[in-house]
Amino acid sequence: MSFFWSESDDAESMAPKQSEPLQEVKSVFSGQVDYSFISSVLDTGVSSNEVKSLLDLTTEYFNVLNKSSKGDWFAFKTDIDTNNQTIVRAFYYRQSDEEFFVYRGYDNNIYDKDGFQFNSLKSLQMPFKNHYRISSSFSLKRRHPVTHRLAPHYGTDYATPVGTQVLAIASGKVIRTRYDHFAGNYITIEHGNGIVSRYMHLLKTKVKRGDFVNVGDVIALSGNTGRTTGPHLHVELIYNGVPIDFAKTQRQYGDVKPLLTAQSLDAVDTFEALKSELETTHPMSLTRR
Ligand SMILES: [Zn+2]
Repeated sequence: MSFFWSESDDAESMAPKQSEPLQEVKSVFSGQVDYSFISSVLDTGVSSNEVKSLLDLTTEYFNVLNKSSKGDWFAFKTDIDTNNQTIVRAFYYRQSDEEFFVYRGYDNNIYDKDGFQFNSLKSLQMPFKNHYRISSSFSLKRRHPVTHRLAPHYGTDYATPVGTQVLAIASGKVIRTRYDHFAGNYITIEHGNGIVSRYMHLLKTKVKRGDFVNVGDVIALSGNTGRTTGPHLHVELIYNGVPIDFAKTQRQYGDVKPLLTAQSLDAVDTFEALKSELETTHPMSLTRR
């Protein structure tokens, strides 16, 4: 034990773990999965109530009991809630090159490592790496360029040369890739919360039905298939079955960043803290398997 280092003493950081003041309750734990995830967590010295709190926090977002395997790494932070119970505030998991993090806010909302509330839609302003001109806007009263009939245009057309990479505007699941006489090759992605996006007139699709895509993933090359007057990408955004103006929505909310509340910032800080705790305590966790 050392009682002589003051808080400002640089040597403190060199002190071994057991030199921490006795009255300070340990709240950050880390370890490696051995034969079972739960027994490996219990080995860090926490109680079964804390394991239950950890599972309550993670199950909905990352089913650690199904996904964990021997050799994975984890770190978590406990805290005292308003009922004076010890709970797991945050959980970090590393499996090969994948990592997962979840944080329970004091407001009881669940946050990710970027301080976003979980399942909030992070989206791009345009489904491309570069910006392209809008050649035809969303309109409920447009004269169709081919049929010249008055027909609503439920999407936004971008003037993209054939072969332009098309990116998923948000993370989600591919629910359709098909050819249609009007839409040409098209892709439909379901983003959850009643939100669906569609991409039409594609030259080539790079995903198939059932694939999960992340925001910004290349899903296709734009083209000129189906009924068109020239190469372009037609994007639709559908909310609870109703088409909405993608370009307008994205002008208001495009490249969505979270409102950085104290909770968001604490989630980001806690993510960094758990990651560095794991890497400091278990340098082997940095080695790729
Ligand atoms: Zn269109």
